[in-house]
Amino acid sequence: MTDNLIEAAADEAVTLTSELIRIDTTNTGDPDTVVGERAAAEYVAEKLTEVGYEVSYVESGGTNRHNVVARLPGADPSRGALLVHGHLDVVPADPAEWSVHPFSGAVQDGYVWGRGAVDMKDMVGMTLALARHYKREGIVPPRDMIFAFLADEEAGGKYGAQWLVSNRPELFEGATEAISEVGGFSITLKDDVRAYLVETAQRGIRWMTLRVRGTAGHGSMIHRDNAVTKLSEAVAKLGNHRFPLVVSDSVREFLDGVTEITGWEFPDDDLEGSVAKLGNISRMIGATLRDTANPTMLTAGYKANVIPSVAEASVDCRILPGRLEAFDRELDDLLGPDVEREWMELPPVETTFDGAIVDAMSAAVTAEDPGSRTLPYMLSAGTDAKAFQRLGIRNFGFAPLQLPADLDFSALFHGVDERVPVDALKFGTRVLDRFFRSA
Ligand SMILES: [Zn+2]
Repeated sequence: MTDNLIEAAADEAVTLTSELIRIDTTNTGDPDTVVGERAAAEYVAEKLTEVGYEVSYVESGGTNRHNVVARLPGADPSRGALLVHGHLDVVPADPAEWSVHPFSGAVQDGYVWGRGAVDMKDMVGMTLALARHYKREGIVPPRDMIFAFLADEEAGGKYGAQWLVSNRPELFEGATEAISEVGGFSITLKDDVRAYLVETAQRGIRWMTLRVRGTAGHGSMIHRDNAVTKLSEAVAKLGNHRFPLVVSDSVREFLDGVTEITGWEFPDDDLEGSVAKLGNISRMIGATLRDTANPTMLTAGYKANVIPSVAEASVDCRILPGRLEAFDRELDDLLGPDVEREWMELPPVETTFDGAIVDAMSAAVTAEDPGSRTLPYMLSAGTDAKAFQRLGIRNFGFAPLQLPADLDFSALFHGVDERVPVDALKFGTRVLDRFFRSA
């Protein structure tokens, strides 16, 4: 293959990313308001069938929640398949806050602008460009590849990855490893030396409802069993609680790697202080040193002079791998038996940073950015990897982008003026091409 062809694929990745952003796929979490996922899935399906793919076009348990899955046979069918997945939905954006319209897909000043530019129509664009390139040129990867373009990630994947894994697992048959968001982006550690962070772990998610019952009554009386008072005490306790510092394997490996590159130390007695010196990325890394439990919603009462019998609060809990039982015990002690707890839970994700697939990622990155290195890290949030883990698949966040040193990348996720450098998209397409051909 000539360099010209891969440059053409990289150019196409930019165009596809921009066109995908123009399809408003806002996911508010309310299924009735979802409009664009179907149009985006049709767009992707057409781009794939146009070059000869047979696609599975699957409506996943709700109206207009469409997903597209396609396979590219590899040279060695006895090897496990590589799954490359990306979600087509985005979080809402208010045009009044943006310098360009969030659904313009504008390509200007060296960036592609718009909601989804980094989360994650960039990766979808790069993947789609390479899938088309391989089919057009008859390029056979070493093993089967499965390309999946999914609905509803931003609301937990109930109408996307989770639904497909529960109802259509055969679409992913044979897949042993997967890549997707949020990883593969560079951070500049010194001068011109970059580290590319490959996501190998995610905290678990628990969206918890706290419920306290009391005795209803008149607001003018002496009243000792007030649900609002008891709930408020519980919420304040939990919101102010600090869970213990735990350095997971992936975090330790990340910090050790940074020390090797920069000489910076991360002493146990000042871990959080030293992590804060990492700059923009410290917000993400810092959030993976402890479990967190942030109260987010309160519900109680219906009139100022009526004491309600029930009060409820929502708490967003994020739990480190291996910490679930300890977390529960801590909540037992903190809240006591009178506070009822209910929750929706998605498990943590964790794999090791080793093996042929990691070697292939690292080699692909350093071939395009000599002198750089890859490091594992833990994502403080969650992705569709949580669904694919249920199939026994090893999950990595690897959507490679070489970023300018001064770009606050993590702030772009769900942020105003979300954008991705054109050069980063082209770089990422070249890295993914090397990776897909050697993984
Ligand atoms: Zn995302």
